[in-house]
Amino acid sequence: MPAIPSSLRIANQATLLEHLLERKAASRAELAKATGMSQPTAGKIIDDLVHAGVVEEIKPIEVGRQSVGRPGKQLRLATSRPRFVVIELGVELTRLSALPPAPPEAERWEVQFKTPNTEAAWQEKLFQSAEKIDVKRPWAVLLSVPGIVDERASRVLLSPNLHWSEHADLTWVLRQVWPAPVGLVQDVRALALGELGARPDGDDFLMINIDEGVGGALMLGRRPYQGALPMSGEVGHTPIPGNTRACGCGGRGCLETLASERGLIQSLREHSKNQAVTFADVVRSAQNELPSWMRATFDAVAMCVSAGLNLYGVRRAVLVGGVVEGLPSLATDYLVGAIQRAAMWSRFDAVAVSLAPRRRSRGLVVAGIQRFVMPNDWSRKR
Ligand SMILES: [Zn+2]
Repeated sequence: MPAIPSSLRIANQATLLEHLLERKAASRAELAKATGMSQPTAGKIIDDLVHAGVVEEIKPIEVGRQSVGRPGKQLRLATSRPRFVVIELGVELTRLSALPPAPPEAERWEVQFKTPNTEAAWQEKLFQSAEKIDVKRPWAVLLSVPGIVDERASRVLLSPNLHWSEHADLTWVLRQVWPAPVGLVQDVRALALGELGARPDGDDFLMINIDEGVGGALMLGRRPYQGALPMSGEVGHTPIPGNTRACGCGGRGCLETLASERGLIQSLREHSKNQAVTFADVVRSAQNELPSWMRATFDAVAMCVSAGLNLYGVRRAVLVGGVVEGLPSLATDYLVGAIQRAAMWSRFDAVAVSLAPRRRSRGLVVAGIQRFVMPNDWSRKR
């Protein structure tokens, strides 16, 4: 095997890994067939991936007392050894785990601490936490960060709720803790990557996270869309006519100021003339009948999301976040229906709008595989 594989070999290897990410498990013959490679070509790449600890063989399954003949050993992404450190830098909490190449289905966090408000304190906490997770020499460290992130330059451009991160050298901090390459991932992109392989209809989609803020990410060809600017899919910062609220981005009237948790609470305060209401009151207010202000807010969300679907020719939207998880079905059904009605493709065929759980840790492992295992010669990463 040459020290630096050919570009064709890298491309073939990436195709195989994509397939395993989506199918979970497959035999050598199935992998060769699905990727259009000859069996010897696929077999050689698989052997090398097994040797490197990226892929592993599953023992043949026994059904009852009968062995299922010899169906050809199944392969999957390796589950045994943690290879990535994944970290969520959240406004409230920082959470971290050491995870293997097989990404977990549900959220998995081993250690968490309250996010401090300085870079130095955060680094100190990370040092302490690093001892509690089981990985000494990870292949890479993946960090999800809220706000607007220039992933290529590893810089946080705007983070209204974590201002210190805008001036911090997060890559440098993480490299003091783990001797490994570091990848910054914008929070909503980590959530979008977490959807890859998590459901069968894994084609292009627009991910919308409605939580403390309103974030968006467009997934095309199994990758977060990256244009010339270090931002895309930011539907939350579309100005809504008639809305004058100031936004954390510096703008005015953004969708986020209406549809985020804080925005919904503010609307209920204004309509009930009660300053003490909380998100629990917002949830209660939508229990039996949707208040008109909430319908107007969801219509605004639908307008922005459907504009994104129309613009990119994408037929699927995935909604995640604390707001959609917390609200009763009366409210989420209205939101889903409003997006479906507004998207132009619904005149021709179904537009799929689904609610999904947040799979941030999964998304960070997928980012780790895409950025640090797929495009490079993995053998240099051991
Ligand atoms: Zn804004």
